[in-house]
Amino acid sequence: MRRAWVAAAGTTVSQTVPMAVEPPVPQHVPAHPGASSPAVSRRMSTAKRRDTAAELALRQLLHAQGLRYRVAYPVPGQRRRTIDVAFTRARVAVFVDGCFWHGCPEHGTRPRSNSDWWTTKLAANRARDLDTDRLLGELGWTVVRVWEHEEPDAAALRVRQAITR
Ligand SMILES: [Zn+2]
Repeated sequence: MRRAWVAAAGTTVSQTVPMAVEPPVPQHVPAHPGASSPAVSRRMSTAKRRDTAAELALRQLLHAQGLRYRVAYPVPGQRRRTIDVAFTRARVAVFVDGCFWHGCPEHGTRPRSNSDWWTTKLAANRARDLDTDRLLGELGWTVVRVWEHEEPDAAALRVRQAITR
């Protein structure tokens, strides 16, 4: 059952995406056709996780250092995008990016099943990150992107440097 479904999905992709050229990054990635394994299913179900361990560790450090911030603060003019940790007065936007979802060069992986879909999905995520950085930059914000794998102390230092700059 599963094998037939994967073959069908692969056929669809090869018909719609020309192989010779780099496919454009779409604004909207179609819904995943279905989880191919419990692990992938679990990962998909936590797609937009709030309060990840990495983010909590960073926030606790910053708070202990006397810094105050807003959590999940809306990106101005973008209803569906939020800044993980926002320093509104200093206009510093901190994003704690998960290694999988944001394509960390050290830990970013792509599930083997539906790899075409995942390539598109993860490329779209990165494109959206860049677009968010650009939007915030135009509005005078400084963007600090922290990888999930980064040491919280090192990340907190980078954030403080951005605030006091
Ligand atoms: Zn990583």
